[in-house]
Amino acid sequence: MFIKRIIKEIWKEHYRAVDELMKKYQHMNEDILCELAIEECDKLEITFFEQDNFVQNIIPSIGCTKCFKQYPCSFCNFHLEEVKFSALMRVLREKNTDMYVKILLYNFRKTRGGMKIKPKNVELFAVRDFFNEFEFPPEAFDAFLSEDGVFTSKPYYGSVFTGPGSINKEKIRKIKSAFRKNVTISIGIEVGNEWIRKYWLNKITTNSSIEKSISDINEEKATIGSTIILGMPGLSDRQSIELMLQTISWLNPTPIKYIQMGYLVKKKKTLQAFLFDELRNDMDLIKIGVVKGPRTGLMDIIVLFDSIMKIYENNESISKRIIFSPQNFTDNAKLYRNKDLYGPLTRIESELLDYVVEITGLGVKGVSKYKPIYEKVKETLEYKNSMAKLAQQHGLEDIENTMRVVGNKLSDKLFTGEERESVLEELEADLATINY
Ligand code: SF4
Repeated sequence: MFIKRIIKEIWKEHYRAVDELMKKYQHMNEDILCELAIEECDKLEITFFEQDNFVQNIIPSIGCTKCFKQYPCSFCNFHLEEVKFSALMRVLREKNTDMYVKILLYNFRKTRGGMKIKPKNVELFAVRDFFNEFEFPPEAFDAFLSEDGVFTSKPYYGSVFTGPGSINKEKIRKIKSAFRKNVTISIGIEVGNEWIRKYWLNKITTNSSIEKSISDINEEKATIGSTIILGMPGLSDRQSIELMLQTISWLNPTPIKYIQMGYLVKKKKTLQAFLFDELRNDMDLIKIGVVKGPRTGLMDIIVLFDSIMKIYENNESISKRIIFSPQNFTDNAKLYRNKDLYGPLTRIESELLDYVVEITGLGVKGVSKYKPIYEKVKETLEYKNSMAKLAQQHGLEDIENTMRVVGNKLSDKLFTGEERESVLEELEADLATINY
C-alpha cells in the first residue's frame, strides 16, 4: 500500500531508535525501568485540559498499538514523539502490567494533584483506545474507576475514545457502571469515505466495523460520539471541505450524538508537516492548492471560518451535534499566530482567527452570534479573493489526479531508483481501486 510505504519511510528513524532502546530496556530490572519511566514522565509536556465542569485527562500510555505494525495514520503522531518514553512504556507493558499501570496513575495524579481527586462533572480519559486491553488493561480500569480508584466519588459523566475493533457490549456495560449518569464512547472515524481512510490516511477501520460499534453502543444506551477531521493531509482545502461535507451526510442518519470535529494539526512527522518541510514551495503542488508556501499544512483562515459557518447554515439538522476539539484548535491557533511558521496574518484573518477560537470554545450555541460578522466578511474583497482561489483548487472530481501528483512528489523526496519505481507502482495499484 502506497501510503504505508510513505509513512514508514517518514517514521523510519523514530522506529529504529525505539527498537534499539527497547532491546536495551528488555535486559533491565523492572524497578529501574519504572524509575526511568517516572523520570521521563516528569519531562513530558503533558497536562490536562479543563473547561468549566469538563476535564480532559491526557494519559500518556503505550500509545497507539495500531502503530506498532501498521505505522501511524498519515495525519497523526499521537503519543509518539517521545522516543524514550515510548520504548520504556512498551517494555514495561510487556514485562509487568502493575508497573505499567503505576506509571499511568503517576501521570494522572501528578497533573490532577492528589491521591484522591474530586471529580469534575465530565471526566474524559484521553488514551488512544480506552478498550484496547494492551494499551489500557483491565487493571488500569480498576485502578482508575473502581470504588478504590482515583476519585473521591463516582463521576457523573465519562467520556472515552476507542477504535471499533476493541469494543463489545460487555465492556460498554462495565464502563457505564463506573459513572453515575452516562458515558460517551467516541469512535475515531476521521472521514466517511473508507477508501480515503485506508489508502490516504493509513487507517484500517472499515465502515462496517464503525456501523457495528455504533449499533452496540446504541443498544447499550451509552452516548455515541465520533471524531472527524476538518482538513485532509496532502489534499486541497476544497477537497478537504467536500470530503467533510460527505462525511457529515453519511453520519446524519446515525444515532451518533456528538460529532467532534478536529482541525488538521501540523505536528512533527505527519504528512502535512512533511509537505511543509520538503515541498511547501513546489509550483505543481501550489497550482492544485495542496501546498501554499509557509501556510502549507493548515487550512486558510478565511476558508476555515467560511466552512464552519456553512456547516451550520447547510446542515441544520445535524449542526447541533457538531462540537469542535478545543485542545486541538488551541495548538493550531498558536501556529497561525506564529509569523515565522505561517507568515503575517491580515487584519481580517487575525479577527477571524479570534472568532474561530471563540466558536471552538463555545460549541454550537456560539455560532449564530457570528452570522452578522459573516455577512460583513462576505462583502470584503479579501473574502471574495479567498473564495475565488478556493474555487480554482482541485475538487473531489480531480482527487485521483491530485493524489497521483502528490504521490509522485513524495516518492521523489523519499526514494530513489528501483525502490521509487516500486512505490509508484503501488500508488497506481491503489488508485486503480479508488472509490469516493
Ligand atoms: S489516528 Fe488513532 S489509530 Fe491513527 S495513529 Fe493516531 S492514534 Fe493511532
